[in-house]
Order: sequence, then C-alpha cells, then structure tokens
Amino acid sequence: MMEPTQSQLAGEVTSQAITSPEVQHPSAIPAPAPAARPERRKKPRIRQTPPEPVPPPHLDDYKGIVGEASIDELRFLANGLKGKTVKMVNSTAVGGGVAEMLNQMVPLLNEVEVKTHWEVITGGNDFFEVTKAFHNALQGSDYQLTQQARDIFLMHNQINSQRIQFNEDFVVIHDPQPAALIHSRDDSRRWVWRCHIDLSNPSREVWEFLAPFIERYDAAIFSSQSFTRQLAIPQYLFYPCIDPLSEKNKELEDSFIQKVCDEFGIDRSRPIVTQVSRFDRAKDPVGVIEAFKQARKYVDCQLVLAGGGATDDPEGAAVLKEVLEAAGDDPDIIILDLPPWCALEINALQRASTLIVQKSIREGFGLTVTEALWKGKPTIAGAVGGIPNQIIHKLTGALVHSVDGCAYQIRYLLTHPDFARQLGHNGREHVKENFLMTTNVRRWLLLLRILAGQSK
Ligand code: UDP
Repeated sequence: MMEPTQSQLAGEVTSQAITSPEVQHPSAIPAPAPAARPERRKKPRIRQTPPEPVPPPHLDDYKGIVGEASIDELRFLANGLKGKTVKMVNSTAVGGGVAEMLNQMVPLLNEVEVKTHWEVITGGNDFFEVTKAFHNALQGSDYQLTQQARDIFLMHNQINSQRIQFNEDFVVIHDPQPAALIHSRDDSRRWVWRCHIDLSNPSREVWEFLAPFIERYDAAIFSSQSFTRQLAIPQYLFYPCIDPLSEKNKELEDSFIQKVCDEFGIDRSRPIVTQVSRFDRAKDPVGVIEAFKQARKYVDCQLVLAGGGATDDPEGAAVLKEVLEAAGDDPDIIILDLPPWCALEINALQRASTLIVQKSIREGFGLTVTEALWKGKPTIAGAVGGIPNQIIHKLTGALVHSVDGCAYQIRYLLTHPDFARQLGHNGREHVKENFLMTTNVRRWLLLLRILAGQSK
C-alpha cells in the first residue's frame, strides 16, 4: 500500500478548517442556486419484485480477484481435512448478515470436500422474543432477566438438541440463541462458538447466565478485538466478510449504473455522497443530512440516503419520517426506501458515488463500509464498532466523531480528488487482504486444522 504524502496528511479534522479556503477541484465547484438544479424525481422508480436468484459461485471464479495462488492455498489447506464433517447451526435461514454469509460459505467448504451441513434451530415466538431481548441486552440495552426467560431459553435449546443430531467432527454454533446446545456435546467432537455480536458491554445478568455455556466450548470466535470478553477458552479473531461475486459486490456495466441513477433521479455529472443503511438512529441519518448541508455551502454535491426495512419496523418508519423532515424539500437530497431485494441497485448506487459515508454512532462490524471500500470508494465513517478495523484514518478512509468532522471530510475529499482516490485504492487493498469470503474460508480451514490437531 502507498502512504499518503505529508501535505495530504495535513487535512486534519478541525472545525476551524471548514471555514478556511481550500483548493477547489473542477468537479467540486461551489453549489449553484437551488433554482438552477434539475428537479428531483418526485417518486423514484424502484423494482417491486425480487429478481431471479443466481447460482452460487465456484472457487475458481475467485481466481481473477484474489489470484490463483490463494485458491490453490485453500485447496491445500483443505487436503488435511478431507472426509471431515462440519455442522453449522444458527437461528435463521434468511435475512441478516449471518445467514447471508453462511449461504455463501457452506457451498465453498463443500467444494473443497470439507462436508459442511447447515442447520437452523426452531422455536416459538416466546423463544425468539427472549433471544431478541438477550441479543439487545448483550449489546448494552437495559433488561431485567427473569426466571421465565431463562426457562424458555433452556427449554427451546433442549427441544432443538433432541431434534438435531450432532455426529459431525466439528460443530459450529452461531450467536447466543443456540448456545445451550453445547449440552449435546460428546468429547470426541470439537465445538466452536462463533459470536457475531459485540459483547464488550453486556448486561451483567444475561452474560453471567450465558457464560457457563460458552466456556464449555473448545474455542470462541469474535468479529473484532473490541467485541470480546475474558473467557477461559481460546479466542480467535475472524473478521466478517463480503462476497466479491455477489449481486451486492460484483462488477457492473456502466450502462446499468446509469439506468439505476436515472430511475432514482440522481445526476451523475455532479458529485454524489451516499450513505446506505437501515433507517436506524444508530446510523445517524439526520447527522448525515446536517453534515451534507454544511459541506454543500462550500462544494457542490448531492446526498443519497438509501435504506430499507422501514415498512416492517415501527422504529424504522419513525426514523424515516425524521429523515424526510430533515431533508425538507431540498432537491439535492434523495431518500430511497428500498425493498430487501435491491442488492444490484445498492451495488450501482455505491459505484456511482463520489464519496461514501457511514456516520454511525453505534455499529456492529459495519459491512456497508466493507462494501464501499471494496468498490474503491473514498469512505468517511464513524469511529465505532468494527469500523476502525476497516478504516485506518487517512490511509484507507477517514474516521469521524461528529457532524462537523463529517462535514469537513466531505468537503476535504471532494476538493482533494487525488488524495480521495488514493484512500479508495488503499481501502480496496485492505478489504482484499482481510475481509473477502476467500479469506474467511482460509481462516475456517486453519482453525479446523488446529482443532483437529492436524496443523503440526
Ligand atoms: N442493506 C441493504 N438494504 C438496505 C440497507 C442496507 O441490503 O436498504 C445492506 C447493506 O448493503 C449491508 C447490510 O445491509 O450489506 C448492512 O450491514 P451492516 O453491517 O452495515 O449494518 P446492520 O444493518 O447489520 O447494522
């Protein structure tokens, strides 16, 4: 990776700097009067039905992206595991990042002949209400753990442990919902707990209830150093990953990107600043609008806020309303409430963008940041959750802590396109090395070899 120069590094975040004159790039001319801007399409055209599903990729399809040697390495590592079997267990087959990742990873492990089977636990509404509350409490929300909640949790884990056979060499349990299945363990098999959530600040009661289950596993895996807890078992760091061949991340024809922008009323001749996120206060969409409005006083740009899920989440609907109010009738703020099947459109929006913002104030790993960096986009993001694992400030993107900082970085990067391009380039390399599906498969193969005692 190339280092930025000293003068590039001089673009420090200060609220003072935002009022000082900057070198202007031709594409970052001062904002024209609103009357001169093209009218925003009142109602963007959004695809109303899901597209046809696409078949999953094969390992060889990744050679063009990560190189032949990396794929050969995966096959070599898998050789030591031939005939071994793995069971992955989670709590949902669709929706959410874990299911998406398992959908992509399980076929690849099978392709290298590590026979991997994915099982989903069942449970009634009472169970999922309890596990949702646990999920939130483990990430810091207030919660009163009752005996009834403990009983419901244990009863459904018990029902699932009678329903599911555990004859595989390795069992991988994802997240807290099925954690008590460890009761079914026999000592000839290795059990791993893969935790996808941030446990740095859990409800003490819920954690004390769960920890004795977790400590019976052979190992635990976390998504970031900052998400872990002190445990009596070995811990491993597995970053989440994206699939570069998925609809969300694959290369797109420019004509398709243009079509999507036309349908959404986005003007590609002017800079585009985009945040893709559920309408959730933790993603601070209103803060993004404020930052955009500050920056636009100095540099011409449009803002795209693309999100989803607001229709079936009452809180999402309330946040979307706040966002629409904050945007007012500004023709340069384009708000898109997208259905869940718009992966290709999100890909196109990210690729059409000049800058990508993820101004979260609380975050998990932040896969939208990974997606943006993979597309080589200069990315500005809140320094929370797993985002600092991905954005090394002024090397692979810009980290911000406030609306003013975000506004400054929008203005700075739009007026320093060479530096912005370098950040985007470095960001893509960082993702290629650390956060792609192929790296994830490699980590799994290494861990399984360690657990099988075959790594010597
Ligand atoms: N996403 C999407 N549609 C939307 C908003 C987000 O498909 O309207 C995707 C986004 O591209 C990313 C994921 O949902 O792949 C969000 O993951 P992230 O870790 O950034 O945040 P989370 O929503 O899990 O908190």
